[in-house]
Amino acid sequence: MLYADIIVDISHESLDKTYQYKIPEHLQNKVRVGMPVEVTFGMGNRCLTGYVVGLSDEPKIEEYRIKDIKDLVDKGVPIESRMIALAHWMKENFGGTMNDALRTVLSVKKSVKPVEKKQIALAVDRSTAEELLKKFAKKHNVARARLMKELLTYQPIPKELVTGKLNVNAATLKALEEQGIITTIVEEVYRTTGGKNNDNSTRVVLNKNQQKLCNQICEEYKAGKRNTYLIHGVTGSGKTEVYLQTIEYIVGLGKQVIVLIPEIALTYQTVRRFTERFGSRVAFLHSKLSAGERYDQYRLAKEGKLDIMIGPRSALFTPFEHLGCIVIDEEHENSYKSEQVPKYHARETAIELARMTDSCVILGSATPSVEAYERAERGEYVLLELKERAKNATLPEVEIIDLKEEMAAKNRSMFSRALQKEMEERLVRGEQTMLFLNRRGYSGSVSCRSCGKPIMCPHCSVSLTLHYDQTLHCHYCGHTIPLPEKCPECASPYIAAFGTGTQKVEEAVKKLFPQARVLRMDADTTKEKESYEKILSTFANEGADILVGTQMIVKGHDFPKVTLVGILAADLSLNVSDYRSAERTFQLLAQAAGRAGRDELPGKVIIQTYQPKHYSITTAAKEDYIGFFRQEMAFRKMLKYPPQAHILAVLCIGRDEDKTRQFCEHVATTAKEFAKTKKGEYISVIGPTKASIAKSNDFYRNLIYIKADTYGILTELAEKLEPFREQDKNVILQLDFDPMGSY
Ligand code: ADP
Ligand code: ZN
Ligand code: ZN
Repeated sequence: MLYADIIVDISHESLDKTYQYKIPEHLQNKVRVGMPVEVTFGMGNRCLTGYVVGLSDEPKIEEYRIKDIKDLVDKGVPIESRMIALAHWMKENFGGTMNDALRTVLSVKKSVKPVEKKQIALAVDRSTAEELLKKFAKKHNVARARLMKELLTYQPIPKELVTGKLNVNAATLKALEEQGIITTIVEEVYRTTGGKNNDNSTRVVLNKNQQKLCNQICEEYKAGKRNTYLIHGVTGSGKTEVYLQTIEYIVGLGKQVIVLIPEIALTYQTVRRFTERFGSRVAFLHSKLSAGERYDQYRLAKEGKLDIMIGPRSALFTPFEHLGCIVIDEEHENSYKSEQVPKYHARETAIELARMTDSCVILGSATPSVEAYERAERGEYVLLELKERAKNATLPEVEIIDLKEEMAAKNRSMFSRALQKEMEERLVRGEQTMLFLNRRGYSGSVSCRSCGKPIMCPHCSVSLTLHYDQTLHCHYCGHTIPLPEKCPECASPYIAAFGTGTQKVEEAVKKLFPQARVLRMDADTTKEKESYEKILSTFANEGADILVGTQMIVKGHDFPKVTLVGILAADLSLNVSDYRSAERTFQLLAQAAGRAGRDELPGKVIIQTYQPKHYSITTAAKEDYIGFFRQEMAFRKMLKYPPQAHILAVLCIGRDEDKTRQFCEHVATTAKEFAKTKKGEYISVIGPTKASIAKSNDFYRNLIYIKADTYGILTELAEKLEPFREQDKNVILQLDFDPMGSY
């Protein structure tokens, strides 16, 4: 490569501005993406440090206008270089442009001002100040006199107290400062999210199994072995305790640790467990932080004032200088895959980052992703197991109810007879019940009973969802209309809602047990800040008997009084057109079942379903992960789905329906030609077709799926498709490697 694209300022705003420099002869083959280099810049030829973000063979402007790179900067590799190299890797492996990747990785805005704390102090000695006090008092300069008196008693005084309580205005302060009588001390304050002091009074002693895992990881780390570990431990087996102890060890070696956790699982309990152990050396990232607070967390990390950063997938980009370990809890969670370009997977990215920084990776889950477990079986990851619950050894008793039989027995209620009986017993005994429904909204879509057509969003090809207040909402674009009185297609007045929502469940529970105290948790009741925590703490403090909710309620909460979990329609998540639907169903059921009987009281789980024989349901009922894994792998092998093969989804999005389709056809042709050149390797191009959401926000969406045996073939193809980005500015090309849902 002869030229390098260089950014000279890595503030958020200037990531787009790259400058091309020539790579001089003696630096050829030495310059790589991410490296800091010395360049001269601008009219005055100022000498600056820039970062290489791309390499090419072609000059972008006239040859003679391109300056040479002066030299490599080799006084240690700064954190930014590592991030840029990681961005480059993400672009190569997950698609998108280098800019998209840089924006993801260098997510800190330089322009966010840190909060400053201003204090007022005397700039003169005490005797001068006393003289001045007398002088001001004599001249009836009351404000000045008041300030001098206060400063003589105690200083420095926070500025807001001076201008507030002491009522000294800014003009007076300015005058005094100019006369050299007082001075303003400016101190930057960091908004921390961690706790105050560590408190080790609640530390648990690891049991034998936990200690064994912990020792293995720590000893291998000490010996310089860097592995990816997969801890497969049933719910409540004490994985978090293992993380805590291992982190403590690695931090003790002067290293820093990133802990990824799904935002929804970042509960008060988790925060407390980490702050009790690590005090103010731990910080938390979550979506409710302001840009400034977020910036402060990253800065604290960069300056070495933190040892541990905890947060959702973006916490991976914490600029730690001495990273030693990355923990990913609930490794199977969908939220670890980004929905924005680049559509990276945090697990894969973490493993690459660990490789770059000589760190180890610890993945943990009660229901590992099929991908991760397959790799662990092959020995690519080190498989560690915790087979028993830490507190009580008994797993809950699980009963599967066939809803077809309930219907045959004329039970039209959404609760089976068995579930009703168990709920009643819990109310009598003063124990708690959780009812879990895999849906949101009051009910599902609304259809006409005469012509059968569902009411659709005019901007997106999905049906609208009926909410409690009798309005219809589009969950993709937010379009909202009142529930029509007549069918928009045939004017029939018979319009009906199908499916069941959490609100309907709540109403039905209240009708069945009027004395019960019922709480509901779903996307609608948790819109407001802290409402999520409020509902959970009310339930934890036994302020309610029954909690009704969506998948939100199944994540990592520990309620000792919950002895019954009812799963109302277990197969709803099976009816989605997505090869991962069985895996998702298994995960949801196993995690939901894991909520029952977490403490001394024994638990019971009732799974209601129309498909009582489906393997994802029967294996989840037994918390039989291996049984599930074997059947699921057989299915994936047969149909060549990941991890057996890899998939690349290519999405073409544009305003003009015809042009978008034609564009997509061109892309498909290129892909098919590429496939022909790959003799002896499996590669298959499916499409182009309309995406199942064929229109979103008035943009048309066309789709191609490419399946191949190896990931490398797909990244090679992605490279070939790159020129399409420039071809038509009206069509957006989006790549998604091993997508999580269906398009
Ligand atoms: P997981 O992360 O696997 O769901 P946790 O680490 O949250 O499990 O542990 C579940 C519960 O058991 C927690 O309340 C935890 O405090 C407790 N626990 C874990 N390990 C031990 C132990 N060795 N001794 C006593 N209690 C433990
Ligand atoms: Zn109709
Ligand atoms: Zn819409």
